Amino acid sequence: MTFQELQLSDTILRALEQEGYTNPTPIQQKAIPVVLQGRDLLGCAQTGTGKTAAFALPILQLLSQQPRNKSTAPRALVLTPTRELALQIEENFTAYGKHTGLKVCVIFGGVSQQAQVNALRGGVDVLIATPGRLLDFIGQGLLSLAQLQFFVLDEADRMLDMGFIHDIKKIIKILPAKKQTLFFSATMPVQIAGLADSLLQNPVKVEV
Ligand code: AMP
Repeated sequence: MTFQELQLSDTILRALEQEGYTNPTPIQQKAIPVVLQGRDLLGCAQTGTGKTAAFALPILQLLSQQPRNKSTAPRALVLTPTRELALQIEENFTAYGKHTGLKVCVIFGGVSQQAQVNALRGGVDVLIATPGRLLDFIGQGLLSLAQLQFFVLDEADRMLDMGFIHDIKKIIKILPAKKQTLFFSATMPVQIAGLADSLLQNPVKVEV
């Protein structure tokens, strides 16, 4: 299968070609059509399978097809447990979206917030965040999730292991009701299955 067959736009295909990607991985083949259709997704996949592009490519495509309104608030949020993952995901979104004109930002804890605050100021389409720093920014009134159309929960089982489940539940409570949710976890312990169940609406399950 090729990326063209997945109905990705020329702006995205051009970036993939520059990345040297020739064919979609199995998770990409299964997940991209589901996301482009607007469905919620429950993905069981490990890091290394290409799962980041599986959610990044269709989100970038859908966002690039509709202009941003006047708000500076993000339209897509990716929550991930660690700074390293957050930076990696941001790098991927930036590379795949380089011809879309969409703005990608990343926020994580353990560093001064000022540079991150400045980066958000001009408006952002896709925000990648770790849970603690996200809640911190929201609490300070530096960030609103009112414009969110896409919510990605990445590495949900690791969030649980790292003690983030309470933060995640707090964040979920302030998300707009109408949104598309993509939920990824390598394993499905009971608590994670329960969380997925409460968050996802009629999801398509994808396993690799
Ligand atoms: P991930 O599972 O998202 O962490 O991706 C693992 C690695 O595979 C990353 O370095 C990606 O840049 C790379 N990658 C993702 N999709 C593809 C693809 N379709 N072809 C080649 N490399 C890819």
